[in-house]
Amino acid sequence: MTQHVGELTPPVRLMLTPGPSSIDPRVYRAMATPLVGHMDPWFKGCMDETQILLRQIFQTENRITMPLSASGSGGIEAAVLNTLEEGDEAIVAVNGVFSERMYEIATRASSKVIKVEAPYGKPVDVEDVRRAGKGKKIKIIGFAHGETSTGVITGIDSYRKVADELGALLIVDTVASLAAVPIDVDKQRVDICFSGSQKAISAPPGMSPITVSPAAEEIFRKRKTKVQSWYFDLTTAMNYWGKDRLYHHTPPISLIFALREAMRLVVEEGLEARWERHRVNQLALIAGLEAMELDLLVKNPADRLPTVTAVMIPGGVDDAKVRNQLLDEFNIEIAGGFGPVKGKIWRVGLMGYCSQKPFVLLFLSALEKCLLDQGFRMANGAGVAAAIRSYSQVETGAAVSR
Ligand SMILES: *Cc1c(COP(=O)(O)O)cnc(C)c1O
Repeated sequence: MTQHVGELTPPVRLMLTPGPSSIDPRVYRAMATPLVGHMDPWFKGCMDETQILLRQIFQTENRITMPLSASGSGGIEAAVLNTLEEGDEAIVAVNGVFSERMYEIATRASSKVIKVEAPYGKPVDVEDVRRAGKGKKIKIIGFAHGETSTGVITGIDSYRKVADELGALLIVDTVASLAAVPIDVDKQRVDICFSGSQKAISAPPGMSPITVSPAAEEIFRKRKTKVQSWYFDLTTAMNYWGKDRLYHHTPPISLIFALREAMRLVVEEGLEARWERHRVNQLALIAGLEAMELDLLVKNPADRLPTVTAVMIPGGVDDAKVRNQLLDEFNIEIAGGFGPVKGKIWRVGLMGYCSQKPFVLLFLSALEKCLLDQGFRMANGAGVAAAIRSYSQVETGAAVSR
């Protein structure tokens, strides 16, 4: 039997999800440029440029700064497995699925990991972390800067202070926040910071930018045992990304091209302008949702992650039906909840390329149509009107022109 498989023609979606986000045409073009070998002298220059851009976006001068050949979860593994050895004490602050993942990975490296929790929709109280570490020899404190499963942001500085008090390294998951929310790795003294290519950087999935402080490098040097993961051993991986350029593994070259171009776009826009764009577009989205009488999961505005907004699904409205209709009728993808909030929330991502005024207004009107079709009543056009008012109150947030 010969079955015919046709040419690949994926639908063109607007991915208003917590990743992957839609990407700029320039990034597609970069990805489709000719492949070169990973040991080609020309590619070495391209690697240097990739690292220059990574350091600008992380705001760091760290020597170990590279894109791991992995999705964001690989960043968690690398950060945790390179620092922890069996018997080491660690604290992971858990307030959702992704910080839980860091805890889970840490427990595979050491049996002495303390989980400090907060309810979904809130950051973990740093006082609880301080209390949990009191009198202990804590090696690392880890948390998710942006907890994508609930749309919560956790401040870095208060955690740094506690890490200093306890003599611990600070590991921060910025998969959902880097290039969208203020992060200054050197100034805020984050020891290991990692991200994901497909979120606010708006490149395709498959790369995890990571950077390591000199203090953390020193901890790597003092290890008594080998890192359990050969692939994610940052010291040997850096032999390729460092000046020696020794073969370690074959990196996804085309993805590096794409990441390089996506980061060029970040730097062209400017980090501050980009942070402001994310802030302003989320404010308009929230104004629109609230005018449609929808509630948010995260009650405290200061705790809201600008890239992901968690909306409570109103009673009587079918979660899957709305999401399917958005996809089928409008080519818009949003995400549902998982874990304890499955079926209870929608997660709307405004990340990188997707954080634009036209997309916010389009989404609000599309959502209104889907809700009306389910019998949910609201003042007609209230969402879009409120978003427009929100935009008129702030100066920026305009579309990325191209
Ligand atoms: C998406 C995400 C991850 C996981 O990234 P993958 O690319 O799916 O492996 C980890 N942490 C946070 C905060 C995320 O948003």
